[in-house]
Amino acid sequence: MTSPQNSSASSRFPKGRRAFPHRDLIGISSLERHEILFLLAEAERYVGFNRQAAKRSDELAGLTIINAFFENSTRTLLSFEIAGKRLGADVVNMYAAQSSVKKGETLIDTAVTLNAMKADAIVIRHGSSGAVGLIASKVDCPVLNAGDGQHEHPTQALLDALALRHKLRERGSDTEDFTGLTVTICGDILHSRVARSNILSLQALGASVRLCAPPALMPAGIERMGAETFHDFDTALQGADVVMMLRLQNERMDGQYIPSPREYRHLYGLTPERLALAKPDAIVMHPGPMNRGVEIESAVVDMDDRAIITSQVEMGVAIRMACLDVLTRRSRGVPGWSDGEWV
Ligand code: ASP
Repeated sequence: MTSPQNSSASSRFPKGRRAFPHRDLIGISSLERHEILFLLAEAERYVGFNRQAAKRSDELAGLTIINAFFENSTRTLLSFEIAGKRLGADVVNMYAAQSSVKKGETLIDTAVTLNAMKADAIVIRHGSSGAVGLIASKVDCPVLNAGDGQHEHPTQALLDALALRHKLRERGSDTEDFTGLTVTICGDILHSRVARSNILSLQALGASVRLCAPPALMPAGIERMGAETFHDFDTALQGADVVMMLRLQNERMDGQYIPSPREYRHLYGLTPERLALAKPDAIVMHPGPMNRGVEIESAVVDMDDRAIITSQVEMGVAIRMACLDVLTRRSRGVPGWSDGEWV
């Protein structure tokens, strides 16, 4: 079995540069371009590792990782759990529905409780923007944001970047970043932490980002993030290299934002005919969960040469392994990581 520990990426990193000085991963907004590329490079070695039959390493043996999920999740929770276990850590999942949060415990009390259990890393998903940052300020170990309200979902943006780069390389490109690419993100931008994290990471990696949504689902002032905004999907698709579709986040809607799912599908659903308005080989992405027949048609999802939705899930495990590995290097005493520096 090939060990994932032989990281050529780490040894290639420029001597003396601060590869990843952060204790936590709260958002893409606090990362620099070279830090994003560093995490992608670290994740690359886990992609091959995960494709082996036996995929268990002992890099994080003896460490305890708590996945504290205050909001529902399927793929993110599973992905973090698999990532921690493949690295040999003890992984414990805490679901809010079964926890004292339902009994009225405050977020800070929950953080203090988790801290007292001496976890070596805590992965948190929470429905309120900023909640993960608040918990991070109350605990002593690295905290990873698995999605906080409408704010950020950094590991999703990182896995999206890794999956996109893999597809480009599969097509013969040797690109490290997305310079010159136009990415159209369409859907419920207003409630989407995936959109926010992706705008930041795609732009940091050189892409131009277009956002498309009905007026009620486009956040006011989002242009300040440097993206171009559209309400007409056909226009937003013209010449796009990548189309990223987002789900309507009904659970975050407190009123009527769209006339009807049927009309939404008519105006913003990605059909094969609509996709033809983008570049001929445009890549299709979706973070999941998908609502087939609403924002995306099955005929598009099933285009194996264009849709990379399954690859996004695969890359998610590799990215989460890389993030858990990198963020625990300091506590594991990995040489050169006392200050987050690779020397
Ligand atoms: N899974 C993503 C998230 O947690 C996208 C979604 O739920 O629509 O934000």
